[in-house]
Amino acid sequence: MARILKPGMNVQTKLSLQDSVQQTVRGIIADIRERGDAALADLSQRFDGWNPPTFRLSAEQIAACMAQVPEEQLSSIRFSLEQVRTFAQAQRDSVRDVEIETIPGVRLGHRVLPVNSVACYVPGGRYPMIASAIMSVATAKVAGVPRVVAVTPPKDGQPFPATVATMHLAGADEIYIMGGVQALAALALGTERIQPVDMLVGPGNAYVAEAKRQLFGQVGIDLLAGPTETLVIADDSVDAEMVATDLLGQAEHGTNSPAVLLTTSERLAGEVVTEIERQLQVLATAEVAGQAWRDYGQIVLAEDDAEMVQVADEIASEHVQVLTRDPDYFLNHLTNYGSLFLGPETNVAYGDKTIGTNHILPTGRAARYTGGLWVGKFLKTVTYQRATREASVVIGQHCSVICGVEGFAGHQRQADLRVERYRQPAPVG
Ligand code: NAD
Repeated sequence: MARILKPGMNVQTKLSLQDSVQQTVRGIIADIRERGDAALADLSQRFDGWNPPTFRLSAEQIAACMAQVPEEQLSSIRFSLEQVRTFAQAQRDSVRDVEIETIPGVRLGHRVLPVNSVACYVPGGRYPMIASAIMSVATAKVAGVPRVVAVTPPKDGQPFPATVATMHLAGADEIYIMGGVQALAALALGTERIQPVDMLVGPGNAYVAEAKRQLFGQVGIDLLAGPTETLVIADDSVDAEMVATDLLGQAEHGTNSPAVLLTTSERLAGEVVTEIERQLQVLATAEVAGQAWRDYGQIVLAEDDAEMVQVADEIASEHVQVLTRDPDYFLNHLTNYGSLFLGPETNVAYGDKTIGTNHILPTGRAARYTGGLWVGKFLKTVTYQRATREASVVIGQHCSVICGVEGFAGHQRQADLRVERYRQPAPVG
């Protein structure tokens, strides 16, 4: 039986935090719905100290941001964009239109069509997450979305140049500087000056994730991608420095980011605790990472690899880093995770920024029912059908029976009319 060596946050505290976030979000959405642009201006001032004449950037403002980004940064941004596009294109190519003949004369098909407009939220409260713009905007464009809106909060009272440059290079059609719930509500519901979109995507803090949850239905969403989580699976083949680095590297996302160590080695667990304290003395983001580790960090001791699979599937973490002798065992057996990092040569930071897989991933155990963002999330699979006269008679007879059982007289008439007409041979000429 697995043993908990360090517990994470107490469930009751988690639930009451969730309640208060839900209420705040409900209020902000209602305000945007009622007062549109006036509410957006007030809320943006209140939460971000930001109330510009217009939230949308002009072409001149975008060019000015581009000019402020050093070439070395632009080069790495372009490299990451290329990796993400290459992988996204391969995934797009794997999704195909289908048309088959099911019985003689009946042809059924599906077409894969992109959503017409999406808003890509790029988080920017604590860190300006330029890589998020790559993940959502570039992927939407590979999917073929005609109108891609990119949106991010201001940083220190102004647009963050590298975020704007990345949105632009990724292919955004419109760029807005506004943050949090008010930004998503304005884009989903529309205001006097903002044309609504059909879908919201992108990660964010607990308020952003809850806003997407509450706006779902009014618009589509990709998935619930809230505060980052990481799970490190390790045996005694790895050293404590590597494990502690991979835990703190994700705990620094925010004070509510859970980092969990699941291991078969009690010795390693003890060494990791000491190593984390040592690294926290020097890590520049120690204040955030340290609090996340103290409040949400967990250590679980398992008996063997099979039990680690069982516990990891229960946790269903957004990221799973595998640091064991046989990483493929976990690739072959794990079923609940957002993205898997196999072996010490790769790691979550690579996935977050550059390697090419998407970093917008399910949190809060959503990995039980969904994977992360990919081109497929921007695509709709819509069906069509056609039949010859002879096939219509076959289908119509069965359809009529089912309609009769259900009591759908109008449906039955639709079927019967075809059977009556098409049972006759087709007129010649
Ligand atoms: P953010 O852009 O998500 O949120 C900032 C906005 O939150 C602000 O603009 C403000 O409007 C709003 N806000 C802040 N406090 C509020 C309050 N009390 N009430 C209402 N609104 C409030 O940026 P962030 O805060 O830095 O969070 C980024 C998050 O994104 C982190 O939690 C990170 O872990 C997560 N993330 C998740 C993934 C994923 O795929 N799951 C990927 C990247 C980042």
